[in-house]
Amino acid sequence: APEKKMPEIKGKAIPGIKNIVAVASGKGGVGKSTVTANIAVTLSKMGFKVGVLDADIYGPSIPIMFDVEAERPLSVEVDGKSKMKPVENYGVKVLSIGFFTKPNQAVIWRGPMAAKALNQMIFDAAWGELDFLLVDLPPGTGDIHLSIMQSLPITGAVVVSTPQNVALADAKKGVAMFRQESINVPVLGLIENMAYFTPEELPENKYYIFGKNGVKNLSEDIDARFLGEIPLVQSLRESGDIGRPAALQTATSLETAFEELTRDMV
Ligand code: ADP
Repeated sequence: APEKKMPEIKGKAIPGIKNIVAVASGKGGVGKSTVTANIAVTLSKMGFKVGVLDADIYGPSIPIMFDVEAERPLSVEVDGKSKMKPVENYGVKVLSIGFFTKPNQAVIWRGPMAAKALNQMIFDAAWGELDFLLVDLPPGTGDIHLSIMQSLPITGAVVVSTPQNVALADAKKGVAMFRQESINVPVLGLIENMAYFTPEELPENKYYIFGKNGVKNLSEDIDARFLGEIPLVQSLRESGDIGRPAALQTATSLETAFEELTRDMV
């Protein structure tokens, strides 16, 4: 079975940050940011110090999901150097590439440029002490990913996918990217999002809209850990849109689902 404990950060470690976990998906729109936001909140509820770095240059949605869209990081002096101070909500520190672009403006980032901006958000930011810094990566496996992966000391990666075939094929490519020799980032596991739908009036029924057990089966095929599944739930979408991650609510099945996969991750 894959290792449970995270390996030590190799290369240029960042003082104060214990683990940097990349959250990736092959395909866009599978719920990578939603899962990142809810894992962050869950880790914080477990007592860990958590930060989220939104590196999704194509559509940074973390500021909306944490209701910090209108905020901007301030400058603070740390040891005589000016540093960016992450904004904070729900006990989670947040920096996003979205804070540095104009609203409604499409920005075309090239790999090295994106990597440079992200490097600044990691190395020139006042994150303080963190147990986990989650990095919400852009979807796909392009040269931007290579730049990011080669310049940041990433401890491990989590891959989110729906059980749909086109998403699975891309998730598989994502895992292959992390396992590539020049990158060599341990894959901590796979998460199945939008696993099934249960209508309120039929609480016993599960409808496998995107297919059944796709991510679970893929995990076995490629010898990766299956971390768990999140169903398709309207309130999860709504909570994201209003900037209050669903996992903040106690005694719900979503809280439990996120707790289970987060516990498997750490
Ligand atoms: P990605 O980061 O992969 O592009 P998002 O997290 O932005 O995907 O999710 C895409 C859309 O799907 C968002 O509107 C989000 O609220 C919704 N969504 C994600 N996961 C679920 C889920 N399990 N149930 C319902 N809606 C979801």
